[in-house]
Amino acid sequence: MANEVNPFESLQEQIDDAGTYVDVAEDVLERFKQPERVLETTLSIERDDGSIATFDAYRSQFNGDRGPYKGGIRYHPGVSRDEVKALSGWMAYKTAVANIPYGGGKGGIALDPSEYSTAELERITRSYAAELRPVIGPDRDVPAPDVNTGQREMNWIKDTYEKLENTTAPGVVTGKGLESGGSEGRLEATGRSVMLTAREAFSYLGTDLEEVTVAVQGYGNAGAIAARLLADKGARIVAVSDSSGSIHDEDGLDAGAVSDRKAQSGSVTDYEDGEVGSNEDLLTADVDLLVPAALENAIDADLAEDIQADVIVEAANGPLTPDADDVLTDRDVYVLPDVLANAGGVTVSYFEWVQNRQGFYWSEERVNDELETVITDAFEDLQSAFKDRDLPNFRMAAYVVSLERIVDAYEQGGNWP
Ligand code: NAD
Repeated sequence: MANEVNPFESLQEQIDDAGTYVDVAEDVLERFKQPERVLETTLSIERDDGSIATFDAYRSQFNGDRGPYKGGIRYHPGVSRDEVKALSGWMAYKTAVANIPYGGGKGGIALDPSEYSTAELERITRSYAAELRPVIGPDRDVPAPDVNTGQREMNWIKDTYEKLENTTAPGVVTGKGLESGGSEGRLEATGRSVMLTAREAFSYLGTDLEEVTVAVQGYGNAGAIAARLLADKGARIVAVSDSSGSIHDEDGLDAGAVSDRKAQSGSVTDYEDGEVGSNEDLLTADVDLLVPAALENAIDADLAEDIQADVIVEAANGPLTPDADDVLTDRDVYVLPDVLANAGGVTVSYFEWVQNRQGFYWSEERVNDELETVITDAFEDLQSAFKDRDLPNFRMAAYVVSLERIVDAYEQGGNWP
């Protein structure tokens, strides 16, 4: 099963595949298949009852040829060394696709945060931040939120780092609260890049968003905001789902009202209009655009045979299994990969870091304008590579374009030592 695939081996295979289209020697390519450095540590904290708890924690710095390592910190029982290594590699490729001056990193602690009090989570986070201190910094490695972490954890990490370094350094992490140096537009950024990617993809295919019907799987931060922004551009949202099921209305759902209903009752299926169905009904709905915005491996090869959408824009990370990707390529379904479509989050993180360094804060309008430029330029680069170099799909175009950027940065640096 796809879930049992070692994510680090998958990453290495993807890099090998992309390497066949890039002018890079095999021994040089090897460098881009391994992290430069992995910190592995055991955290010990005192629990509220006076006992001591220990946790495995990691930070992988995959590649720093294009700039400081960049990537989130995940709190989850499934966090492992190989998972963190793989995620750090995907970050290196995502920052290179968006062409922002960062490398790739990722960190995590193997724990279920629901089992700990807020005070315990603060001690765990500060202990982790103290371990990270020698290897992070605004010019070294800039962590951000990921699964089960958010503004609160970033504020704790920033505070710990600043106290230990006896300085102020808001650019040491991104995804902070606004009062701690966060950026306007950060919460909407991922949904916004999904909308912009969809707009560019349909424009490439000669269709305006106003003529497009949409199904969105997963109605959380990424999915619900993407749905609302797509609707603002005139697209018709005909189906949405969350973990309780889906709703479908061919006349179009009011994306904002569905969000309000979910906020009240906990599920989109409680929305008054539309026909309730299964998650699979949503994925195979007869729509122009499908936006998977829930979990990884949501679509396998069997399901891919039944997909009716012409375009898939991946809001989630890794929502297609590799086999599903092959099926969809054979069926000429355009898949716009996660490394482009959800790059809005890391791009606005980059804007946050720029603002921290400038000590000058931008309006939301400026953040959104700059994000639009990054995503439309990145789409253009991928689209040219896909067409001019006859690549099998946009995902391969993304890996080829990003690998070339990383290889160029490495080669321009020369050999040392
Ligand atoms: P979230 O927790 O806010 O929302 C996830 C949604 O998916 C929820 O509505 C949940 O009910 C739904 N869901 C879970 N299982 C489902 C299933 N089987 N069928 C249908 N719906 C299901 O999470 P999020 O922040 O929106 O992240 C979603 C995806 O987007 C993840 O893969 C994440 O890595 C990716 N992503 C998010 C961001 C961001 O800034 N939020 C950035 C980059 C990538």
